[in-house]
Amino acid sequence: MNREKFESLWVAQGGRCAICGEAMPAGRFDVPHATVWKKKRPTVDHIRPRVKGGSDDLANLQLAHAACNWRKGDSWRG
Ligand SMILES: [Zn+2]
Repeated sequence: MNREKFESLWVAQGGRCAICGEAMPAGRFDVPHATVWKKKRPTVDHIRPRVKGGSDDLANLQLAHAACNWRKGDSWRG
């Protein structure tokens, strides 16, 4: 994931999580604690997982809170 793709997704989503719809902090210092940042930081989510043949094209990518992304990850395993 390069910075350019990240910025494109960030702008397209208006800085909101693709999974829960809430705003994501743009940087570490937009949140009070490193632990909050760890959960709320924007992460890249593959809409179709790479293990299932998903690509790294923008069309298959979205930004989501790290915690939301982890939850989604759990559901794939279950
Ligand atoms: Zn979220």
